[in-house]
Amino acid sequence: MPPAGTYHGTARRPRLWALRPDRSGSGTVTEAECTTCLDGSGAADDGRGPAVWCLAHTQETGHTGFRRIRTDFFRASCD
Ligand SMILES: [Zn+2]
Repeated sequence: MPPAGTYHGTARRPRLWALRPDRSGSGTVTEAECTTCLDGSGAADDGRGPAVWCLAHTQETGHTGFRRIRTDFFRASCD
């Protein structure tokens, strides 16, 4: 009987995958959404555009609750 951890004499090591931040595309994307009417700011590369949109939306509609959605990207790679 072979020792534990060997596969019938095949010395193949499993490939090790790792997740790393993906810097090939855009950076973190920020978006704001109204929790009352679900209208949204659209995605932006910085948080300032969505924040300005929230304040304008409050002035127009009286809605005061918002959800901030921040998306960042990862890529799996194998060493
Ligand atoms: Zn709204």
